[in-house]
Order: sequence, then C-alpha cells, then structure tokens
Amino acid sequence: MVRYTIAFANQKGGVGKTTSCINTAAAVAAKGYRVLLVDCDPQGNTTSGLGISKKEVKYTTYEGLLGEASPRDCVIPTAVENLFLVPSNIQLAGAEFDLIDMEKREARMRRFLNDLGEDYDFAMIDCPPSLSMLTVNALSAADGVIIPMQCEYYALEGLTQLMLTIRKVKQLYNPGLTVLGILITMYNGRLNLSVQVLEEIKKYYADKLFPEPIPRSVKLTEAPSYGMPAVQYDKYNKGTQAYIRAAEEILKRTGMAAGRV
Ligand code: ATP
Ligand code: MG
Repeated sequence: MVRYTIAFANQKGGVGKTTSCINTAAAVAAKGYRVLLVDCDPQGNTTSGLGISKKEVKYTTYEGLLGEASPRDCVIPTAVENLFLVPSNIQLAGAEFDLIDMEKREARMRRFLNDLGEDYDFAMIDCPPSLSMLTVNALSAADGVIIPMQCEYYALEGLTQLMLTIRKVKQLYNPGLTVLGILITMYNGRLNLSVQVLEEIKKYYADKLFPEPIPRSVKLTEAPSYGMPAVQYDKYNKGTQAYIRAAEEILKRTGMAAGRV
C-alpha cells in the first residue's frame, strides 16, 4: 500500500520536474519515510540521475503499466536508504500506443501502485513533458500534484492548460485529486522578469505556491552526473537546503508531518 502518491507534472519541458522529484523524495526518505520514486518518463532521467543504468534494468515502469511483470519485481533499491525506484527507459515511449486497446488504460498506474504488495509512505511520480496518457495515468493515480515551474514569460499560459487537464482528470477519473502546490524552480530574484512573473502567479495561485522558490544552483545540476540526489552530493548548498524545506512543506501539506504510523 502507498499512503500518499504525488505526481510531479508540467507539460513544459526542462522546468525542474525531475530535479524536484528526486530531491524532495530523497529529503523525505532521509527523514525516515519509505519512498518509492516512479520514473514515468521515457527519457529515464530519474533513473540515470540515481546512478542506475537505463540499459541494464530488467523490469521498468513499462512492464508495470502493461502488467507484464509483477509490480514488486519492477522496484529496485537505490543507494539512498529508504528510497526505492521503478526505473524507466526509452521503451516506455511505446506505452502510449500499447495502452490504446486496454480497458481502463488511464488507471494502469493506480492499479500498479495498489498491487505493489509492499508498504510505502510516499510514491512520487516523475512525469514526462507532455499531457500524454502517461501523465494522465500519473494524475489518475495521485492524491496530490506538485507543479514545478520556472518564472518565465510563457509559464502562466502553460499553467492554465495544465490546471484544465488536472480538472478534467479529477472529474473523469480521480475525484480526490488535489493540487498540492506550485513549486518555483531555478529562481533568480535579481531578474526583474522572474520577480514580475512570480507576482503574477501569486495573484492567481497564492494559496498554492510553496512558501519558498528553489534558487538556481550549479550543485543541483551536477548531482545527477554523479548518480546522487543533491541531499547526498552537497547537502549544505542553498539549492539542496531549499529542497529540504520544500520536502518539509510536502509533509505538512499531506498531513504526514507527524511521522510514520
Ligand atoms: P523534462 O521536461 O525534460 O523532463 P524536467 O522538467 O524534468 O525536464 P529537469 O531535468 O529537472 O527538468 O531540469 C532541467 C535542467 O535544469 C537540468 O539540466 C537540471 O539539472 C537543471 N536544473 C533544475 N533545477 C535547477 C536549479 N534549481 N538550478 C540550476 N539548474 C537546475
Ligand atoms: Mg524530467
């Protein structure tokens, strides 16, 4: 059983979904929670970012969704204590097509997580940069969505589209779905445009914003090349510290701050 499932979603590419997913997951795991990361992107960045070879994994999110392996067999341990992974690779790009004929094809991720047969406090799903059936599966399985976004000119347009999709998934497949929060990434407070866009987001979504943006930090980009979450690679840099505080906010917003039961 999974106590709380979070999807990290934004159809815009390169906004920090994977970085946010890996680092908040690792920070939550460091507090003693059992966390399952699900790489739901054919790019497999969560997988390689944890130092796991995409070519060598036996079972992946693909087999999990298609029901070609038992969910338990798709999970591998990581070098981080309490952090587990369902890896992914380019094979997952075929899932879209292979799911077409399946009954309840939007509910495959939910079924996968329900059938895990192991207990996790959190499942955190890293979505691809699209509003494809993979993202719809993640949203249909999730209790909450976190939307990582950059303070750029077009950010708000994308956000409107994403909110509409979330609303649709909520109506059609997953009435319990909530937007857990909007997490500003790669923030540079010295850029006027970033400050202005942040003000604009606050106008419409003040209640959803995480209290603190994640600043730009080279250490956050370096960590995946060493196959480590930043919490392990360089715990004390400002980017990592911001992710640790974001993880604490996640615990608060999900009602899990009291600890494991
Ligand atoms: P995709 O849509 O392709 O899956 P994504 O939304 O998952 O991308 P990431 O891969 O997390 O985005 O980040 C995009 C790039 O920005 C990466 O090179 C990452 O290392 C870098 N990056 C993410 N967050 C930060 C940050 N706070 N400071 C500096 N660089 C960052
Ligand atoms: Mg990504």
